[in-house]
Formats: sequence, C-alpha cells, structure tokens
Amino acid sequence: MNEVAPALESDGIVRCDACPVLCRIRPGKLGACDRYANIDGNLVRTDPVVVLQRTDKAVPFLNAEWSGNPLQPAEVFVTGIGAGTTYPDYKPAPFIVSCEVEGIDMVTVVTEGIFSYCGAKVKIDTDRYIGPEQAAVRAKGEQVGHVTTAEYGSQMLALGGVRHLTGGSKKEGTVTCDTLLSLCNGEAVELAVDGGSSVLVKASGPPVIDGTEETRMRVGCGSATVGIFAQQWRPHVDEVIVVDDHITGVLTEHQAGRCLDMRPSGIRVRGRRSTPGRYFQVAQPGSGWGGTNIANPLDIIQKIDPAVAWPGLRLLLVSTTGDHSMWLELDENLKPVEKEMPEAVRNTVERIGENCEPALSTVLFMGGAGGSLRAGVTENPVHLTRSVKQALARVTCGGAPVYVWPGGGITFMVDVTQMPAGAFGYVPTPALVAPIEFTLRLSDYAALGGHMDHVRPLASLRDNTETRPMPYMPGRRA
Ligand code: SF4
Repeated sequence: MNEVAPALESDGIVRCDACPVLCRIRPGKLGACDRYANIDGNLVRTDPVVVLQRTDKAVPFLNAEWSGNPLQPAEVFVTGIGAGTTYPDYKPAPFIVSCEVEGIDMVTVVTEGIFSYCGAKVKIDTDRYIGPEQAAVRAKGEQVGHVTTAEYGSQMLALGGVRHLTGGSKKEGTVTCDTLLSLCNGEAVELAVDGGSSVLVKASGPPVIDGTEETRMRVGCGSATVGIFAQQWRPHVDEVIVVDDHITGVLTEHQAGRCLDMRPSGIRVRGRRSTPGRYFQVAQPGSGWGGTNIANPLDIIQKIDPAVAWPGLRLLLVSTTGDHSMWLELDENLKPVEKEMPEAVRNTVERIGENCEPALSTVLFMGGAGGSLRAGVTENPVHLTRSVKQALARVTCGGAPVYVWPGGGITFMVDVTQMPAGAFGYVPTPALVAPIEFTLRLSDYAALGGHMDHVRPLASLRDNTETRPMPYMPGRRA
C-alpha cells in the first residue's frame, strides 16, 4: 500500500485529492472508488504497485528462474497498477522510476490514468446476426454503445466513449462505466442489442448468443469457402452452394469451378449476383444457415434450368462453418431429393469444421491520454506526444504493449487479456482508471522537460510492491 500525503481534516477525516470527486474519507473507511483508504489518518492506496517479472515465456511465477530480488532492473518492469493517480493535472506522476538496463539509464513514468475518453471495442466471432449496424447496445437497460461494422467472421461492438459516460443521464454514465470496468477486468457481461440478440461477452471466452454458446468461427465467406475446397469437391459433386449471409458461393459458376472445368449445373440462387458464382443478399440475416434466417436451405434456390441441369445431379448445400449441411440429388423431374451424404463428401464438410477457429470474444480497451497523464510526465506535454510518435517513448498499459493511433494525441488500444488481472478501476465521475507507463531513456526524458526532481531509483520501491509474472506475449523480448 502506498501512502499519499494526506489532507487531514477534523475528526481524523482525510481528503483524497486523487481525482475530481475529492472524497472525505473517515478513519478506517474507503473512498468512493475503493482505491484509497484512510488508515490511521494516512491516505493510502489500497493495492500494492504491481511489478512484473520479465520472462521469456509463460511460467508459473514461483517456478521461474529468478534471482529473488524483486527490484532487479533487468528483471522487472514497474506498472501503473496500484501506483495511484495525481490530480490536478500539473502534479508529477506518482512514480517516476529510473533504472539501468543493459548499460542504458532508463526511466519509466507510471500512473493510474483517469480516462473520461475511453471505451472498448468488442469482437465477437460469429456469423449469427446479433442486430443491425448502428443499433443500440444496452446493459441493464441503458445504452452503453452500438453495433458497428462487421468484420471477417465477426460481429463488432463499440462500447463506452465519452458521450455515454458523460452525455446522457447519470445512470447511463454509471452503467457504461460499470460495463467497461467488468469487461476490461475479464468478467462476463450480458448485453442486449435493440432489434437483435442478447449476447454474453467475456474477454477471451466464447460468446453466448441468445443462450447458445458459439463454438466455431467460420472458415471464410461463402465465396472463399468455395475457393478453398473446390479441388476437394471436384471428384465427388456436381454442384456446391455455400450459404452465407454476405457472399453465398456457387461452385460451378465460381471462378474456382470454371478453372476446374466443372459443368454448369443450371441451379440459380436467389439474391443479387455480384460476380460469377458470388451472390449477395440471398436471404435476411439471422441465426440460421451461414448467418442467414434460412432454416431450409432449398429456400435460396430460385430455379433449376431444365435446359442445363440433369437427373442425378449431385448437390451439396453447406454453411461456412460446416455446422449445417445437406446432400441432395435431382430426380427425373429435376426436383432435389435429400439423400445420405457419401463419406467422401462428409469428410470435406468435416474439414470445413476442422478449419474453423474457436469462436471467441475479444475486448480491446481504447483510451486517450489526457491532461494528468501527459502533464504528469512533463511540463511540456506536446513533447511527450512527439516522443511517443517518434518511438523514443514506449507506451504500455499494465506492462502490455499498446497500439498508438497515428495522428494527434496519444490514443491507444490494448488487449485486456494481456494485462495483469484486476488492472482496471474506476472513479465515480464516472471514468475508467487504467494503468499506463511511459518508458524512455533518462536523457530523452530530461530533454522533453520531464520532472527530473521526482525521478527515484527502482530500489526505492522496495516496500509496497507486489511482483507478478509478466503476461505472456509471443515475440516480446524479456
Ligand atoms: S473517488 Fe477515489 S480517487 Fe477519487 S477522490 Fe474518492 S477516493 Fe480519491
């Protein structure tokens, strides 16, 4: 626990000035965010500063080869978790820690930033229709975000943001903050989409849509599936239709079928023909075959041309995950009749399933480094922004690497699963609290107008720290 200079009032009450709420905390009590407490008249940050142990690979902490010194510069990284927050903005960051790494004097500036401008981008691996783009996404009845543009095999949500945190009712702001906090700390959250589904989302867990757990992320769109499997289908089928809400593929018409000299089948599907063998809008979106509302796949067949098709034509209908499939043959009247699927064809359907990755929900926290974050690093914040853009200063979030957006400001995204557990907090303004660290050479820090008077050696953190293994990130050097 870190003691912070208290503003002692009468009756032993301590005034916390770590955020604009300015809680008056009675002896033995916590502030509104549970992050600060009044212990014996001292304002104390209730969690220890988390120091990460650098490792090459994921190992249980106690099994790792380690010198036993939690504050060896080459072995540890000081995070903003538990560091505390400074307010108002001009105060230096809570910890500005120097250490020598491979002969170079480095400094890491750590803080727990208060993010009023923040949100979460949620990727849900599913073909199922969860609701129209732009539809409101609600938690506990309050709008906390919206459905945004779908990606390849995934539905996407944009949650939070300053408008939901500050621009609506107090309840909307509170629920939005609560939702973001839970999601970013890896908890499951139930969301409801207006005009769509209810979705249970948990970072790195399978999404549950309207009570059904999603297991497979599709192998590709209908057209891609045709392209991938055309050669394997060629000896066993006369036609394949891969049903997909976005791009339904028809093998013999598709370029893949043509290149394999497949005979046209004369089977025409509904929808708008984009290019040969690729059809848009064959049905409405839904929870049926390939993310459509189709329960009977024969519904998407518009006609069978008697001048082209022939009795005995072998037809495979399949979805992009292989979850749905049907084997048919045309009878003497060119009517499709369901038959038992030959083993060779069954194997190709199973291979579609085999090529599907596990369906997951992914949560990226996205925030903008504001006043206290930047002024806490330097008296001249634009120099920090420039040094980040010039890659002189490395930004991390609880030790995890971030993606910093090009353009102005320091707007970044981080995969919350790469951060230590419980890294996020909140303040009731409402805003999310997230750790952030800026690491750069000590000489560069001095050059950008850093708070050099507040630089302290790593060893000074000996007390009030908790060492954890660094989250495993493939490709990252220790
Ligand atoms: S909400 Fe937390 S950080 Fe803000 S003043 Fe209260 S105790 Fe301090």
